[in-house]
Amino acid sequence: MDLQLKGKRALVIGASRGLGYAVANTLAAEGCRVAINSRNAEKLSASAKKIADLHDIPVVVLPADIGDVDAPAGLISKAVDALGGLDLLVTNAGGPPPGAFESFSDEDWAKGVDLSLMSHVRLIKAALPHLRESDSASVLTITSYSVKQPIPNLVLSNSIRAATVGLTKTLALELGGDGIRFNSILPGWTKTERVAELMGARAQASDTSVAEELSKQMKECPLGRMAEPQEFANPAVFLLSPAASYITGVMLTVDGGMYKGTL
Ligand code: NAD
Repeated sequence: MDLQLKGKRALVIGASRGLGYAVANTLAAEGCRVAINSRNAEKLSASAKKIADLHDIPVVVLPADIGDVDAPAGLISKAVDALGGLDLLVTNAGGPPPGAFESFSDEDWAKGVDLSLMSHVRLIKAALPHLRESDSASVLTITSYSVKQPIPNLVLSNSIRAATVGLTKTLALELGGDGIRFNSILPGWTKTERVAELMGARAQASDTSVAEELSKQMKECPLGRMAEPQEFANPAVFLLSPAASYITGVMLTVDGGMYKGTL
């Protein structure tokens, strides 16, 4: 199948590593012109170089903290200048900190909202005029399967990401007439650096090994293992591509069956 991505202009947020990197790298492999973002300019440049070397293309490097109020508009404007427009947008960032409900202050909640909801809102708002000019505009929000089945000790993520899914679905309804598609992927456990760090912290806290922590977590997963980042990137790139031109408003769990509900 031809995904028809050759020459499409894409901005991927939170892409120096993990899920964002895998998506940016796969878009580049499919012939997209890609701009990537994360906070640390040095790490981001190293990731851009990896993608550029693999696919023999230039990759635009746009460092910024996406939780900052003014960052999204600046990023979109720089991406549009560098790429000559925008067709595809992936909104993503690190997750808010773990913890139980009573451990968080109002300020923690506000920071979580800025990072995990308002960054998506601000990016999409700034991108809309440019997406309206594209003949294949598509937005993918990266959220979590915790929206459907809350994960213990992740109250900020469980609560705030539900709003991001509500936003994604609403925009699919409101802006379908403008030819812009909006979908979200709700990932389950995927082997990224973040998850490796999380499992390391769990092992230290409970005096076990990373292997034991992984195996405990994966007992609940029907496929019995974590996803590789590429197993996230494949459906993500498909949903972004013109090959998925009749798919909008889909909230797709890519979680190895972790979500146990029927709908
Ligand atoms: P990761 O930490 O490996 O990568 C996150 C990327 O975002 C990095 O490039 C990081 O530098 C960047 N980033 C973080 N905060 C940022 C900010 N404020 N501004 C700009 N860039 C920022 O994480 P990941 O595993 O790739 O996860 C991506 C998202 O998906 C996270 O929100 C995570 O909570 C969510 N998620 C991940 C999994 C999983 O198993 N990996 C499961 C469910 C949900």
